Amino acid sequence: MEKTDLEQYIVIHYHELLTIEEKAAYKHHLTTLKAQNSENTKYGEMLMNRWGTTNPESLNLLVGGCDNFKNRVATRILSEVSDKVFINNCPKCGELARTPKAKQCRFCGHDWH
Ligand SMILES: [Zn+2]
Repeated sequence: MEKTDLEQYIVIHYHELLTIEEKAAYKHHLTTLKAQNSENTKYGEMLMNRWGTTNPESLNLLVGGCDNFKNRVATRILSEVSDKVFINNCPKCGELARTPKAKQCRFCGHDWH
């Protein structure tokens, strides 16, 4: 299993386990990407004003980039509340399924409905 797959899986599917600062940081990161992709600077600024954060704690979490952020969040969640996380590995090949509720493997096609 790719470690980054599991980190992404936790941040997306167990978003409620993120702290307020982590959620704000993640939203800030996604908004930054959207703003950077926008041709319109004013629109980009509006997005950042609306969805970005100025919380130093949140911004600090993003130092080192998004992969680093996901790694830190996933590591924290797995050490503090691992009982709340269902790591849905395929019973056949052991790879991580796309979602906690998935019953079909995206790697080997195994179906455990
Ligand atoms: Zn599989």
